[in-house]
Formats: sequence, C-alpha cells, structure tokens
Amino acid sequence: MALIACGECGRAVSDKAEFCVGCGAPLKTHSGIDLVPVNSKVTPPTRAQLRRRALLALSALGLGVVLAGPFGRHLGNARVAAFLAALLIIAGLCAVLVLLVHAAANRR
Ligand SMILES: [Zn+2]
Repeated sequence: MALIACGECGRAVSDKAEFCVGCGAPLKTHSGIDLVPVNSKVTPPTRAQLRRRALLALSALGLGVVLAGPFGRHLGNARVAAFLAALLIIAGLCAVLVLLVHAAANRR
C-alpha cells in the first residue's frame, strides 16, 4: 500500500482508497469506473433476432397508425386512442431506428 497526495487537499491517502479521507474528493486510482469504452463482449443480435424485433417494431408502428386513423375514432375515448397511437408510433419508430443501427453494425 502506497500513499499518494490527494489532488484536492494534498493530504496523504492510501492509493487503494476511492475517496480522500480528508476532503472526500474521489481519487483517480482504482475507482472502478472506466471512462475509456471497452469493446463489449455482448454478441450482436443475430439476423433471426433482428427480423423478429423488426416485426414487433413494425406491428407496433402499424397498430399506432391504425389507432390514429378512422378505427381510433370509433373507440369510446378518442383522446386515449390518440395518446396510444402517438405512443405506439414513437416507440415503433425508435425501435426501427435502433434496429437499423444494429443491422448496419451487423453488416460490417
Ligand atoms: Zn483530499
């Protein structure tokens, strides 16, 4: 165990400590937080998984469009239908965008 000087107050603290015992400032030694991105070990989704997710995303999008259209107006509460439609369309679009990024990463 070695002593290092705290960058904030200059007090000698253990290099194993995560925080300075004097002022509580975080020490840059073994904080456990890695700011440099490490290549993730998680395998990218397979083509079959991507296809299933695309189907799910597109059906959510389709349901949203249907709810936003004439079908939604026949439901009891048009406001709820419009809200659901917006939610489904936004979620569907986000999912499609994520899928496109994944598919592009897969192609490399
Ligand atoms: Zn300190």
